[in-house]
Amino acid sequence: MAEENKMERIKCLIIGSGPAGYTAAIYAARADMQPVVYTGMEPGGQLTTTTEVDNFPGYPEGIDGPTMMVQLQQQAERFGTEVRIGMITEVKLSQEVGGVHKACVDNKTWIEAQTIIISTGATAKYLGLPSEQRLRGGGVSACAVCDGFFYKNQDVAIVGGGDTAAEEATYLANICNKVTMLVRKDEMRASKAMQHRVTSTKNIDLRYNTEVDEVLGDQVVEGLRMVNNQTGEKEEIKITGLFIAIGHKPNTDIFKDQLEMDDAGYLITKGKTTKTNIPGVFASGDVQDKDYRQAITAAGTGCMAALDAERYLASVATPEEEVSAS
Ligand code: NDP
Repeated sequence: MAEENKMERIKCLIIGSGPAGYTAAIYAARADMQPVVYTGMEPGGQLTTTTEVDNFPGYPEGIDGPTMMVQLQQQAERFGTEVRIGMITEVKLSQEVGGVHKACVDNKTWIEAQTIIISTGATAKYLGLPSEQRLRGGGVSACAVCDGFFYKNQDVAIVGGGDTAAEEATYLANICNKVTMLVRKDEMRASKAMQHRVTSTKNIDLRYNTEVDEVLGDQVVEGLRMVNNQTGEKEEIKITGLFIAIGHKPNTDIFKDQLEMDDAGYLITKGKTTKTNIPGVFASGDVQDKDYRQAITAAGTGCMAALDAERYLASVATPEEEVSAS
């Protein structure tokens, strides 16, 4: 059990170091909230596992994901953000307006924070096949909107039967020559409207009862061996890209029973704000967004969270704090 004595107290704790966390940090630091960012297990977040980012405004030539995240960190640090490598492993959130929240770092040290911005993101699910894991970044991707363009006029495949898979399959069909879509059941989970879009798109080859047997290729994806899970029949196709669209898991385990979340575990925010059900606790980025999941939308909500936190701090400030701030 971690010890709770001799606690450091900060104004703003930001959990997570993706575009949402660092954008929140830039705004919070400029508002003199002296934010501390805890990076989590994957400093820089999901973008560090992508190669080229071509759709973030302001980079006409594109930028590679890891470089972009280093630059975002540097920008946040320039205004006084403290970035610490570490995981927040437990929280004790105060229900009181103006109350102090507690967070445990790496199961060891507790810190106190007047506000917390949660930007812990979501993790794309993968199939778990060794060949798939080996070729991640070499043609296996979990984001068609991020990486689809690299497969322009080529043949690709996508796995999944939900709304994401259906949406991404039609997105890819606009760019690529042919999209083979593998759905493991004899029906799709996606809405009827999305299913209709898939079945009416000519260059989507929809395969029901079909799963990935092996991703083929040494350094990069060169093909796919599929298996029909009813007949056992196997078939190989040539592809250069494989997109996995079988869902995401929001990283919210440590907030269970304290923050409101939907059935899938995404944090619920109030109206158009980033406020959670706990005063002084805000959520930004993919951890509260299962629909858009883009770096730019995450950054936008990171900015909103910092502004919401700043307003909250101003609203609960004691007269002495107001005097010292002026
Ligand atoms: P879902 O959980 O809805 O769907 C996941 C899909 O992946 C299912 O078809 C599932 O199959 C399949 N799957 C899961 N594991 C495997 C596996 N190991 N191998 C093969 N297939 C597998 O996730 P989504 O990301 O599609 O959607 C998440 C939420 O976001 C949903 O509520 C969705 O409605 C929403 N959304 C809405 C959009 C919109 O409105 N425009 C766009 C995108 C998402 P099975 O059915 O057999 O379990």
